[in-house]
Amino acid sequence: MKETLDIKLRVLDIIDGTIVDGPGLRTSIYLAGCRHACPGCHNPQSWDFNAGKDVTISEILDHVEDNGFNVTLSGGDPLFQLDAVTALCNELHKMGMTIRVYTGFTYEHVFNDKKMSKILSAADVLVDGPFIESECDTSLLFRGSSNQRLIDLHKTTGLDIVEWED
Ligand code: SF4
Repeated sequence: MKETLDIKLRVLDIIDGTIVDGPGLRTSIYLAGCRHACPGCHNPQSWDFNAGKDVTISEILDHVEDNGFNVTLSGGDPLFQLDAVTALCNELHKMGMTIRVYTGFTYEHVFNDKKMSKILSAADVLVDGPFIESECDTSLLFRGSSNQRLIDLHKTTGLDIVEWED
């Protein structure tokens, strides 16, 4: 357990009380690093894996416990820190928090990647797919382009995807 709590993530920022990354007030944790290079990305500074600072799982849990908000993991792309992010999700679940994970990978890609697919049982909702500028729609809830889906990981079975509904 102590070993898990000592795992470090490279974090760009932690924002409390956000309302744009999922329902209700949330703690949004922005992980450093992304290789998708989506044209029109809102935050290319987040692509740098050395940006931000190291934060342990223990420090994040303390932070989340203090404010009591459910958690969104965004970036960058959290799945480039797969092992640490999965461990963090498991610990957050033990605290009773729900977790949304944003990724530039599609659900199908994640599902078919044996290593990456472990995030699917560690999170509650996956917001998937790259940002596609031609499909950008500012009216969409919690996502930037219409190709991206809010996937309910509890109701989804295999490739039978069920989208999250408020
Ligand atoms: S996945 Fe997100 S952070 Fe990465 S390039 Fe695309 S829009 Fe930017």
